[in-house]
Amino acid sequence: MQRKVLVIENSQKSLQLVSKLVKKAGLIPEGANSLSEAQMRFSASMPEEYLCAVVAYALPDAPHGQAIDFTINAFVPTIVVTDNASDDTRKAILSREIVDYLVKENHQIYDYLSRLLARLDKNKSVGVLVVDDKRSSRQAMVSLLRRHNFLVYSASGQAQAQEHLAEHPYIQLMLIDYTIDDNQGVQYVAELRRAYAKEEMAIIGIASGKSGILPATFLKSGANDFLRSPFCHEEFLCRVMQNLELLESVETIRRVANSDYLTGLPNRRHFFYTVATRYRQHVERQSLALVDLDHFKRINDTYGHDAGDAVLKTVAELISSLFNDVPAARFGGEEFCIYLPDMASEDALRRMENFRAVVAETPVLYKDKLLSVTASIGLISAFDDNLETLLGDADKLLYTAKSRGRNQVCSRAI
Ligand code: GH3
Ligand code: MG
Ligand code: MG
Repeated sequence: MQRKVLVIENSQKSLQLVSKLVKKAGLIPEGANSLSEAQMRFSASMPEEYLCAVVAYALPDAPHGQAIDFTINAFVPTIVVTDNASDDTRKAILSREIVDYLVKENHQIYDYLSRLLARLDKNKSVGVLVVDDKRSSRQAMVSLLRRHNFLVYSASGQAQAQEHLAEHPYIQLMLIDYTIDDNQGVQYVAELRRAYAKEEMAIIGIASGKSGILPATFLKSGANDFLRSPFCHEEFLCRVMQNLELLESVETIRRVANSDYLTGLPNRRHFFYTVATRYRQHVERQSLALVDLDHFKRINDTYGHDAGDAVLKTVAELISSLFNDVPAARFGGEEFCIYLPDMASEDALRRMENFRAVVAETPVLYKDKLLSVTASIGLISAFDDNLETLLGDADKLLYTAKSRGRNQVCSRAI
């Protein structure tokens, strides 16, 4: 696991500040005050253990960026920190294959470094596809992206790009040059938009400086962003980061809107939406189970609300693991709902009976106490009925299960 970040910095204050940011990003800082100390630390571990290195440009025993060369040669993605923003230093830094550099005098840099560290960690599972017919610019982009830990693929035209897309579903960002396949870049973007929404696949169009209205044409055809080539290293990476952050924000909003805050299970609204859009058309027999925890109020009354919450989370985890192939949701309070499509009623009953037994046998550890809980379940199986009717029936069956003594499944097949 690449969880460590090597911080090479001789200023104690900066070292502490950067280490704090590294920890905040959920990573492990490993500090070194000089190049020689970094070399020692390195010989004691494997370079693969490091997600990246944050390296001061000038150190007493490495005054001209030698520490940067050391980490780059060890294939560790390297972020450079410098307090000197002169053109010469900047040139010296950018001539090396670094991830990025930060100038200390700018107050925003620590915020930027935080984002960068989080990104480097996430990028390991983000696919990026570069589509450019010009070999040199394709390779330049690939090299920049690799340093940022992305899973990088490249193609010289649409046919090869389509193969990559089919093979690597985790591709989330595409960079598409205007000139591919005889100036088909814009058309290709428009084509891609029929298959991928803007929020699931970010596309950055690229065209050379002479192209007057191309940026607008790219954007109107569905590109998320545009870059004019030749571009500088820094602008390229800022755009890549910004577009991916936008994708993630949309994903976060979607997840929050669709799930229950306490357990993370889908909420009632999302459950209805999933069942209606994904299953109803091609389902024959369908079953619906309503689950209600027994005497749950007593747990709250005896051990407190937090204990009740812990029980709800445990039950939700059991539901997630036992029913990860079908829609399931927290309907509210201590009530859950599970939809079982295309399944014989006996199989649905067997699964719910198993779930009931697992709940009864799984104690919940809260502080130093083991709490036990049981569930009553109403299960209805029917052909082609609407969801509201099924819910009404399941609710009646649940009521029967309660009145018959709880901790049981009451089922009916129509
Ligand atoms: P029964 O066996 O008849 O279902 O009894 P019960 O106590 O489970 O049912 P009742 O409807 O009387 O009580 C449900 C309780 O669930 C009352 C409510 O305070 C509690 N509750 C609802 N939502 C939450 C929650 O998010 N967290 C906690 N801790 N308790 C909750
Ligand atoms: Mg209830
Ligand atoms: Mg209850």
